[in-house]
Amino acid sequence: MYDLIIIGSSPICILEAVNRSENGEKVLIIEKNNYIGGAWRCLNIFGGEDIENAIHYLLPNVEGINFLKKNLGIKIVKSNSKYRIFKISLLGYIHVHYENIFSRILDKLINNSLDWSSIKDSFLNRKKSFYFKNGSPDFMKKVKSLLDNSNVKVHLNCKIEKFLFENKKVSLFTNNKHVFKSKRVLLTNGSRLENVFKNNRKIKILEKFQPRPCVHLFVSDATPQKIKEAIFVNDSLIKYVHEVSSFAKGNFKNKKIFVFALKHEVKEKTYIYDELLNILKKAKICDSSAKLIEKKWTDVILPTLFNEDLDKFEKEIGQQLITLKTESLSEAFGANSKRWNSIK
Ligand SMILES: Cc1cc2nc3c(=O)[nH]c(=O)nc-3n(C[C@H](O)[C@H](O)[C@H](O)COP(=O)(O)OP(=O)(O)OC[C@H]3O[C@@H](n4cnc5c(N)ncnc54)[C@H](O)[C@@H]3O)c2cc1C
Repeated sequence: MYDLIIIGSSPICILEAVNRSENGEKVLIIEKNNYIGGAWRCLNIFGGEDIENAIHYLLPNVEGINFLKKNLGIKIVKSNSKYRIFKISLLGYIHVHYENIFSRILDKLINNSLDWSSIKDSFLNRKKSFYFKNGSPDFMKKVKSLLDNSNVKVHLNCKIEKFLFENKKVSLFTNNKHVFKSKRVLLTNGSRLENVFKNNRKIKILEKFQPRPCVHLFVSDATPQKIKEAIFVNDSLIKYVHEVSSFAKGNFKNKKIFVFALKHEVKEKTYIYDELLNILKKAKICDSSAKLIEKKWTDVILPTLFNEDLDKFEKEIGQQLITLKTESLSEAFGANSKRWNSIK
């Protein structure tokens, strides 16, 4: 019997587990994959290691970023090479720096959300974007070392298919016919729930499936470019692209790795990779001589539970259920930083 079972091994879940374990609770993390990290795990592809698996950035949450810097000792920098890319008829792709006021106003104009208050906000509130100086591999290394040095137990390759909340215990039934018992369970926005019962009553769950197709392109390109992170404001294929080879281990001399988040409706087609590379060239994110070496497609799904779903479950299930809001990493670290303050 555990005090708490946590569903999933994202960094937020790991910090929560470590904190509770340091406070004397017997904690188990259950993870359906054979690796930890959830949305933040790194990939070994293109002959390299520790390659960012998706588009990542940190929203400017002061408490969260301070916690990451001061408690975890992770270097965080302002994203100085981040641009918005606009597709303008006759002009083609133009780029404007992310922090430039004109870039924000044009973004709002194109997305039909320009009004006086948003113009005022653009002038008064210069929004910045932050990221780990050495990428997510550095962050995950620290998170993993906290987990390894704790008493938290972890079960990988183990999917919870049924949750049964009874008066004094919760039983979790796995895909490999195991049953784990705990006093309480912790869920996040990224937890996948199939069958949830409170005593004999089945709790209604409406998971939302929002695809966010992800592509990695490995290209030969010896020319340094100023754009490392880009938001495509009005492109029909691309939402975001980041150049991530500088964070990875491997021989990437004169080569680059781009990770893309594509529009949700885009499906894999043989010609799509050349098309993506062409857009990078036109938007001056890579050199016109760049050549495609390898590519990888991943069907990413965004977290299927919204904050209101978590609130509803807490209400229906009561004290046996704890939820953590995890839609933004820095905001989740900020919201929990006081409770986690003893973690170093
Ligand atoms: C691809 C991707 C990129 C993201 N990038 C950013 C970013 O850059 N910045 C930001 O602020 N936010 C980002 N997010 C938002 C992200 O949701 C959070 O940063 C955070 O990782 C969410 O934590 P989580 O625990 O809710 O979910 P996840 O990180 O998705 O982890 C959930 C884990 O739980 C496991 N799991 C789920 N259900 C079960 C089950 N029934 N049994 C066993 N295991 C289970 C899954 O296998 C998974 O490993 C990203 C999300 C995605 C999907």
